[in-house]
Amino acid sequence: INKANMALSTLQNSSSHYTQYHNNVLRQLATESELIQAFHNALHNDELTLAFQPQIDCSTNEITGVEVFSRWYSKALQKSISPQIFIPLAEKHHLIRRLSIWLLHSLFSYINSWLKSRLPAPRFAINLSSLNLHDPVFIKQFFQLMKSYNIPANILQIEITEHISLELFSDGDNPLEAMRNHGISIAIDDFGTGYSSLTYLKYLPIDTIKIDRTFIKSLPASQSDLALSKAIIDIGKEFDLKVVAEGVETVEQLNLLKLHGCYQIQGYLFSKPLSVDELFEFVDRWSSHDHP
Ligand code: C2E
Ligand code: CA
Ligand code: CA
Ligand code: CA
Repeated sequence: INKANMALSTLQNSSSHYTQYHNNVLRQLATESELIQAFHNALHNDELTLAFQPQIDCSTNEITGVEVFSRWYSKALQKSISPQIFIPLAEKHHLIRRLSIWLLHSLFSYINSWLKSRLPAPRFAINLSSLNLHDPVFIKQFFQLMKSYNIPANILQIEITEHISLELFSDGDNPLEAMRNHGISIAIDDFGTGYSSLTYLKYLPIDTIKIDRTFIKSLPASQSDLALSKAIIDIGKEFDLKVVAEGVETVEQLNLLKLHGCYQIQGYLFSKPLSVDELFEFVDRWSSHDHP
């Protein structure tokens, strides 16, 4: 674990480039105030949609989960804006609760009709901002919406990043604990890229860790990324957690991950994020074929 922790810490400084990147992209798109105005309208005008990326268990060849993403095509700006731009923007301008509530409405009504019309449904993994988890009003609405759309808890997974403050949860009022007690599973996203990864394993009710795409990207060539991926897989085994590899694009990457005992795979190799209709087709096609 110590070795793994040291290895993980070498990657922790990479996020300092983010702000610069973010600002540059922002400048190319529109001014921040134009963008926030457009995003405000998007929340009213049906410009947001959902995208779904299947997660495959390569030991059983089943679709075990689907990660849910937000998509925004701005009519005013006449282009798609990446969630890497509009999520931080929504966080900064206090719109992240509304964005996540919008997502829950759309997703839950979708799941609701899926469960009525066909079975079985995969598990849906929702990305929540750390701000959502620290927002008691949001948490309350989350549970209310689950109830009103009749969503079984075991069909949901929450993906969190390592930016939540552990202190806020030490008073026994941990929303993740509450979700977990309902039967919702919890995943740590981008495991190893943030801070205090291993402390999170100790204090949070985690089921799953996700190997970040930045580790997978340069496999099989990079020895250090291979070492990191193996370390994360071993941590998973040690703590009895599921390990999902994301951003898997090639058969070589897949085989390497399988070789080291990671069978839960998400990435372009199997599927890009899909629209509602495309997801139905994918699930249909997948269940009617044999897979190697
Ligand atoms: P993430 O949660 O780490 O999601 C993985 C990102 O990698 C997604 O980008 C996905 O489309 C992309 N991806 C998946 N497989 C591959 C692959 O094989 N190759 C490559 N090159 N890329 C792959 P996306 O959809 O642009 O989302 C970016 C980030 O924005 C997400 O990172 C997540 O942190 C955030 N995000 C997206 N939707 C939401 C949302 O509804 N709520 C919140 N809070 N965050 C969101
Ligand atoms: Ca995620
Ligand atoms: Ca991720
Ligand atoms: Ca990521």
